[in-house]
Amino acid sequence: MRHICVLGSTGSIGVSTLDVIRAHPDLFKVESLTAHSNIELLAKQCAEFKPTMVVVGFAEAASRLNEQLKSMGLTVTVDHGAEALVSASTLTSVDTVMAAIVGAAGLLPTIEAAKLGKRILLANKEALVMAGDIFMSAIASSGAELLPIDSEHNAIYQCLPDANTSNGGSRGRYSSLGVKEILLTASGGPFRNYSLDQLRNVTPDQACAHPNWVMGRKISVDSATMMNKGLEVIEAHHLFELPAEQIKVLIHPQSVVHSMVRYIDGSVIAQLGQPDMKTPIAYGLGWPLRIDAGVKELDFTTAHDLSFEPVDLNRFPCLSLSYQALSVRGLAPTILNAANEIAVDAFLKKEIGFTQISELVERVLNQTQVSGAMSLDGILEADRIARQEALSIVKGLTR
Ligand code: NAD
Ligand code: MG
Repeated sequence: MRHICVLGSTGSIGVSTLDVIRAHPDLFKVESLTAHSNIELLAKQCAEFKPTMVVVGFAEAASRLNEQLKSMGLTVTVDHGAEALVSASTLTSVDTVMAAIVGAAGLLPTIEAAKLGKRILLANKEALVMAGDIFMSAIASSGAELLPIDSEHNAIYQCLPDANTSNGGSRGRYSSLGVKEILLTASGGPFRNYSLDQLRNVTPDQACAHPNWVMGRKISVDSATMMNKGLEVIEAHHLFELPAEQIKVLIHPQSVVHSMVRYIDGSVIAQLGQPDMKTPIAYGLGWPLRIDAGVKELDFTTAHDLSFEPVDLNRFPCLSLSYQALSVRGLAPTILNAANEIAVDAFLKKEIGFTQISELVERVLNQTQVSGAMSLDGILEADRIARQEALSIVKGLTR
């Protein structure tokens, strides 16, 4: 039996994780849950999964949750804030952490659990983008198993040679095993065929209406700008220790081929499935065994089109910015991620337009001077400075 902490249990990935867990009560026991502010859903999850600890974002939410749990006759330890998130993920009883908080807030509870050698199921790509080297060394030194949950990386993990050893043990080996490159597929998002002019006027609701996937609002906007794919390039670089030149992106509007690995002998191995995150989640939870994910099978008795096309970097500059940050390395990916989080938030609040997201990220990336050590503190400081710069640009734009 695996003992699970779900960081971000009320989000899209968190709810899907609990769906898979619900179907396998003999395999999984929930030890801790965390959420920012959705107390109602969290209380329901407590009643069903009986965790020993729950953590919310702030004191007022904690006291509301406490009252609700009391009225339901449940005894659960309730805590709040950033340090409490770390307590939830590092509980002695926890052996597996689903990292499904969105954004930089997920970094500390995930990395602290990694240091203790707990199995990390990584959905929270921002954590890896902002602190990839440090995160991967924490994994390597503790020997923790790291299983990618992002569908593309989960696909690649399945298509790479020797995927049934943990990433911690397999860093840097892929080039010598005949891997030529990895091909990350992207749906192209809701605006795949929009002109630059049309892109200027799109609304948050349009951006969040993804054609194939149901996801949280931040990643939905990232998919629409294709920053999501850019973050995924950086994520892949860290997970699989491949240089940027060996990580390619192509548009595949049907979202059935989740990604591919090209080998030097001309073979290309792909992983296919429904666009349903329960498949990679079940892969991570069950690994090394396969378990039922409760996902509809792909039906090959009817005709299917699988098409592929190159990305238009002119309309989706966020992808180029990500490659740029990856080539600069150091703190550039941290700055890129922080600026993007602020830009997406401002777009969702209708403070800036859609095409201003990439403009803002580009400005922050090019003008932010941070020279700090590549320590966790240095990264958090760069994150803070980049957010400040981004916020002041947003103010200027909206004034
Ligand atoms: P979501 O917005 O639906 O859920 C986010 C969760 O994080 C919620 O439980 C929320 O309460 C919690 N949270 C938000 N801000 C927080 C904060 N400051 N402190 C603590 N908790 C906080 O997002 P999602 O779509 O589930 O995505 C979660 C992560 O998984 C993201 O990093 C995303 O990039 C990644 N991911 C998601 C999908 C998907 O299909 N949804 C696919 C691949 C990767
Ligand atoms: Mg993805």
